[in-house]
Amino acid sequence: MRIVVVGAGIGGLTAALALLKRGFSVQVIEQARQLGEIGAGVQISPNGNRVLAALGLAGRIEAVASEPLGKRVRLWSTGQTWNLFDLGAISRQRYGFPYLTMHRGDLHRALVDGVSAMDPDAIRLGTHVDDLRVEGERVVVCSEGVDIATAELVIGADGVHSPMRRCLFGDDAPRFSGIVAWRGVIEAARLPDHLRQPYGYNWVGPGAHVIHYPMRNNTLVNLVGAVERAGWQVESWSQQGSTEEFLGDFKGWHEDVQQLIRAVATPYKWALMVREPMTRWSRSRVTLLGDACHPTLPFLAQGAVMAIEDGYVLARCLAATPGDVPGAIARYEAARIERTSKIVRGSTDNAARFHNPQLAHAEGAAAYVDREWSEARVKERYEWLFEYNAETTAL
Ligand SMILES: Cc1cc2nc3c(=O)[nH]c(=O)nc-3n(C[C@H](O)[C@H](O)[C@H](O)COP(=O)(O)OP(=O)(O)OC[C@H]3O[C@@H](n4cnc5c(N)ncnc54)[C@H](O)[C@@H]3O)c2cc1C
Repeated sequence: MRIVVVGAGIGGLTAALALLKRGFSVQVIEQARQLGEIGAGVQISPNGNRVLAALGLAGRIEAVASEPLGKRVRLWSTGQTWNLFDLGAISRQRYGFPYLTMHRGDLHRALVDGVSAMDPDAIRLGTHVDDLRVEGERVVVCSEGVDIATAELVIGADGVHSPMRRCLFGDDAPRFSGIVAWRGVIEAARLPDHLRQPYGYNWVGPGAHVIHYPMRNNTLVNLVGAVERAGWQVESWSQQGSTEEFLGDFKGWHEDVQQLIRAVATPYKWALMVREPMTRWSRSRVTLLGDACHPTLPFLAQGAVMAIEDGYVLARCLAATPGDVPGAIARYEAARIERTSKIVRGSTDNAARFHNPQLAHAEGAAAYVDREWSEARVKERYEWLFEYNAETTAL
């Protein structure tokens, strides 16, 4: 069976590799002329690493990632620190797989190499897919009015602005979350020792929060600052901002945060949009995965991980129902929609938790953190995410 995957992002490449490993013929069509990822980090929790290991990429990825020993919460004003949960060896023991933090480019490269090793011609670059046409049991894939490929199944893995989603379901209706996310990469050598500890940090404060974690064997630090503010609403990975503007959004925050912001070479900003979870992802012989069907706020750090899980589960469904594409994609939707919708909602809930007005004054803030990040509540919010097994989940 021939399958076209539109988009060579983390989700599309994972799906392609999982499908190639099961013997399907796959063509990935990517609009970019060159393969690559933006300069930013990504956290891959054990549920994602389980899939990457099943695809034979564990060694390659661990060699270029960082493995934080745990997550810590810090208070925006005083810098008071709480342990959120332990990772490192504990994650491997508890979930069977590590929790890794890494440069997106390193993950992307590992996936590209994995796909190319199975089929050197699998990825076609420089082609923007803008339309589809179903003809009986095949789908014709089009670009600028020209038919460029046919397949028995098309997978739209074309990201948050997904043209494939628009072909299936029309325009979506995103709503501005009221939050802008700053991001930047820091050379760890530019930071003092206490800011380059092998932990993931989540600074919480009224109306904003800051995340930072090590990557590329602790030689780099990824910084994300999310701030509530009106006005600017551009949803794009490539919008540059200035250090002054970034600092201005975190005025009054602890000196450690100011120091981190000043150490970023080039800050970028992204307006975070909210979309209601979709109830259907497929029509006929076309389905979606990743941000194309469940774009999420990044506050559970599961967007890329969900895309990775999707690709693997979809390949399992197709292998389980040979010759029945509509049946396989119906199974895939049924297996995935509830979990991904719950993650999308949980991520939105975390915005209110991380930015709560009760964090404004140190005394009340400590009680708030103790309550919201108590062991029991943390377990309730994260355990089900990390325990998920894409290899065995019921189809
Ligand atoms: C600030 C921030 C921090 C985040 N941190 C994390 C994290 O720590 N952990 C995590 O799991 N997730 C995180 N995410 C979410 C994660 O980045 C996304 O969920 C993930 O990249 C989605 O992958 P994807 O493959 O679905 O889409 P994308 O990565 O967007 O890939 C889509 C691909 O399709 C291509 N394409 C688009 N349209 C076409 C077309 N018409 N024709 C051909 N090609 C096309 C694009 O060029 C691109 O290569 C974060 C997001 C943000 C904004």
